[in-house]
This record gives sequence, C-alpha cells and structure tokens, in this order.
Amino acid sequence: MIARFCSFFCLLSLLNCNQFPKPGLPSDVAYSDEPHPRNVILMIGDGMGLTQVSAGMFRNGNKLNLEEFPVIGLHKPYSGSDLITDSAAGATAFASGVKTYNGAIGVNMDTLPVKTILEEAEERGLATGMVTTSSIVHATPAAFIAHEPSRELYEAIALDFMKTEIDFFIGGGMKYFAHRKTDQRNLYVDLQKKGYTVNDYTRKGLSEINLNESKNFAYFTAEDEPLAAAKGRDYLLLASHLAVDFLHTHGGSKGFFLMIEGAQIDWGGHDNNSDYIVSEMIDFDRAIGEILKFAREDGETLVIVTADHETGGFAINPGSTMDSLIAGFTTKDHTASLIPVFAFGPGSERFNGIYENTAIYTKLRQALGFEREMER
Ligand SMILES: [Zn+2]
Repeated sequence: MIARFCSFFCLLSLLNCNQFPKPGLPSDVAYSDEPHPRNVILMIGDGMGLTQVSAGMFRNGNKLNLEEFPVIGLHKPYSGSDLITDSAAGATAFASGVKTYNGAIGVNMDTLPVKTILEEAEERGLATGMVTTSSIVHATPAAFIAHEPSRELYEAIALDFMKTEIDFFIGGGMKYFAHRKTDQRNLYVDLQKKGYTVNDYTRKGLSEINLNESKNFAYFTAEDEPLAAAKGRDYLLLASHLAVDFLHTHGGSKGFFLMIEGAQIDWGGHDNNSDYIVSEMIDFDRAIGEILKFAREDGETLVIVTADHETGGFAINPGSTMDSLIAGFTTKDHTASLIPVFAFGPGSERFNGIYENTAIYTKLRQALGFEREMER
C-alpha cells in the first residue's frame, strides 16, 4: 500500500512537472509608459492566505492597512515538484523566477544556482536589505541570498551571506553565525571584518541602535527562532522603519530592494492556532502601515505584499462573530489555493490579474527596469 501510494505520488509529481504551463512573461509594451519605481519593498506574509487576512482584519476592528492597496492580484503558488509548495520553493519563485522543488534554496530543479533579484539589485548598485521574524537563514530570506540544495543547511546558508554584499539585515538565528557546529568559523566576527556594524539582542535593544548609514548593518534578534508576537516579540515595525531609513540613505539615487517577512503567520497555521495566526497577521499589518507611510511620502517606491502559500486550510466557520472567530482547519500543512498580491506605488498596475508566482519576479524586474540577462 505504501509502495502503491508512493508510486502514485511520484507519478503525480512527474505529471505536475510537465502538465503545468511554463510561467508566462508579460509583455513590457503595455507598461512602457509607466514610471519606474526607484525602490522596491517586497513584503511576504508566510502562510498568509485570504482567511488569515480576513481573521486578522475582523479581530483588528474590521480594519487593516492592507485595505489601502489600490491594486490586487492573485498568484498560483504551486512549486516545480508539488502542487502544495513549501516556503523554500515559494521564495525561490519570487526571488529568481523559477519553479523549483520543495526545499530548494535559490537553485533550480537540477540544483543549479539561479541568480536572485536581491543579488542582481546589489550588482546594479541598489542598496539591499532583509528583515524577518524568523531566523535570517530560514527558507524565505535564505532564498533571496543563498544557493543550497536543501533548506535545512542553515550553516551553509549563513556562509552564503558572506558571499554577498547585502547592506542590511535583521532577524534571528545568531547561532548559525556565531556558534557553528560544522566549522569553527565565527561569521559574526567575519561580518565585522567585512565592515558591517553587527549587533544583537544580548548586547543592545534594537530601539537603542544609532544607525551609521555609511556602513553595512546586521542585527540578530534571537539565538535561534524569535519569539511569537504574543510572547513578546515586538521588533517588526521598528526593524521595517530602520530598514527603509537606512536603505533610503545608503542606496542614494540608485534606490533599494528590501524584503520584509512576517514569518510566523505560517507557524500559527501549522499549529492550527487561530489566535497565533491573528496576532502575527496584525503584527505584520502594522509593519505594512509603516512601509506604506514611507512609500506615500517617498512617491518612488513600489510596495508588494503577498504570501508564499496558505497554511492550515484555515476557515472561519458558522457561529463566528468578528470578535470571536470559530476556526476550522483542514491540515497542519500548507494548501494550494491562490494567494493574494497587494500592490502600491509606481509600477503597481502590472500586478493586477491572475498569474504564476514566478511572475512576481518578472514583474518586479520589469518595474525596476532590469533587462533580462540570463537564459534559464
Ligand atoms: Zn510552513
């Protein structure tokens, strides 16, 4: 029975690889007159399907900053290996425009590295940054900067940070830099040697940090994974504010690329815990409000908010009120449903409609005016 299930599953995976059409590349022509944004901020609510958004909205007094976004689309989140994607394949699709296998970090189906939009932005002289409420080497941020065959290779992913010139990052996972098991290197010290200002939660609170915009900046919020918002984590809004402040100055006229992740909406889904989902959703939305405030004032910033996939098969069941939700879940894993994309600012129009998750990458590159250079 197990063998039968496996062969059926494997066959299904193979069919999946072949039956889905290759992601389309929307023409530039329709948008040729559109102004290019100088800066792009991509915000990923991990595991944030429409029910997660709805639950956060109802429990937040029927209001979210997400409602301010004028352009809304939907993306198809399936991966190269599975109809149900994981965060590694999902983030690789956003970062590099390829559908790859679940677990892949910045590599294609053949485990070959694929350049990320963050690396490309860095090459073109834009300032780059990442902020997350997970460890900084977790699947979503990792796929923007690292190239590893498996998401589990946290120490190798940390080492990949040393190979880029990312200007700013804030997240957990200090142990993968400072207390490594696979080698004796101390990447915390190595980052300092590379010219970074490095700090962490044991030495200085994020609110006490005075940024020196002439040096790259790294800050660790936890030894391993950061706390849940409900248990006292409160840095996402401040970290997002510091990131745009820093990158805006650091990037100068070239602009910047920033990825901000609300990582633990997904973990609430895996726990089938609607209170966990709601508190993380509201925390993420507060950061969205901060980013929107910047983007409105700046006028040259494209903000995209989306998710890699939905988690939990989360539903709001009959008998619920706005203050008291009766949650239902179909799984402790991810699901395959279409995922909302919210867009604000110059270049936002191209995010209308229904498209592959890989089109987020293509649309971001087109909006930024990057030509296609690599054959895949
Ligand atoms: Zn997950």
